[in-house]
Amino acid sequence: MTELHPGPELGSPAAEPSDASAGGDGPTRLIGLDRGDFARLIEGLGEKRFRAGQLWAWVYGRGLEDFDGMTTLAKPFRARLKAVCSLERPVAAEVRLSADTTRKWLFRFADGELAETVFIPNEERGSLCISSQVGCTLNCRFCHTGTQRLVRNLEAGEIVGQLMAARDAIGEWGLRSQDRMITNIVMMGMGEPLYNYDNVAKALRIIMDPEGLSISKRRITLSTAGVVPMMARCGEELGVNLAVSLHAVSDDIRDELVPLNRKYPIEELLAACRAYPGVHNARRITFEYVMLKGINDSPADARALVRLLKGIPAKTNLIPFNPWPGAPYECSSEAAIATFARIVNDGGLSAPVRTPRGRDILAACGQLKTASERKRRGGARSGAAPPGAPLGAPGPDR
Ligand code: SAH
Repeated sequence: MTELHPGPELGSPAAEPSDASAGGDGPTRLIGLDRGDFARLIEGLGEKRFRAGQLWAWVYGRGLEDFDGMTTLAKPFRARLKAVCSLERPVAAEVRLSADTTRKWLFRFADGELAETVFIPNEERGSLCISSQVGCTLNCRFCHTGTQRLVRNLEAGEIVGQLMAARDAIGEWGLRSQDRMITNIVMMGMGEPLYNYDNVAKALRIIMDPEGLSISKRRITLSTAGVVPMMARCGEELGVNLAVSLHAVSDDIRDELVPLNRKYPIEELLAACRAYPGVHNARRITFEYVMLKGINDSPADARALVRLLKGIPAKTNLIPFNPWPGAPYECSSEAAIATFARIVNDGGLSAPVRTPRGRDILAACGQLKTASERKRRGGARSGAAPPGAPLGAPGPDR
């Protein structure tokens, strides 16, 4: 069963998360099952234990889409697997390619819900930006996804499935890690990964397994708007890099931009950053800072940012605001961004300005949104308050 972690003020999503990876009468979906699940499955089928490892390598290491090619498994066993299991991934309902080569997939899951995944190739690496939820509870004022209510959490299999479907599309199964195009994973797509922690953690453990998808924790970054109580666990259990969507240096501005700040204000958030397990100078926390004209982009803000992050092994990422239809903000001027970056740099923090990627296909940071809507359900809880509503600030284009 999926666990949802919205705080009480954020409202508890009424929709029961549908478990797309198991249950029901259909075949068992292998994608999203972990090592323990594989062992139990193999045992249940009356096979020897080591077969679980072989199956694992075919499924996650080689990415096979059917059982026939699993030549280390006896034919009758393959037939049995075929009868009771599936290797289904999310289906690409739409693929868009940006002029700058960024690629965006609109993935459809088994129940018809939609989420987006973005591949951002660079000279020296390629990042796959993965979604953790359909919609989002956070309602950040400058974020397009924030105007879409949370529909549901993604299951572990749907999170892993985004990577597997991207590997299918790019055709890089069986390549050595140094030859792959998708080298890094960023949990920066739709949703708040720390509000879907169990599924995200299960998915990331599968992704990190060296005999499977094999992307190391050093190459995985999880971004959070600041779900303070979950941060330590994320560091201890997963050890992935952390990015924090800071975006403002005072609580009154951050309350507006990131309503979650009313629950976990800046001081608490930064205390959790200082305590983030495994953080040190060679492994810094990235603070994301969206540049909004006249809101958070003054030289005084830049100086305050330097003061605020003092003592934290930190780097900043200045993100020019990416516009979307109906957005209530504008991007800061180039001159304002340059001045801001210089002050932060002079303060001893690395402050690269992120070049927007995929803006022409609405694939840049904060531009993701799908047509999935929360279904109205019968019964007492139907039409429950939209998550985030009690915090005010409904999305601007609702
Ligand atoms: N909920 C998580 C994961 C989303 S990451 C989080 O908030 O960190 C998406 C990143 O893009 C966040 O840093 C978010 O604040 C930023 N973002 C959202 N809308 C944006 C926009 N319109 N322009 C630039 N960055 C934006």
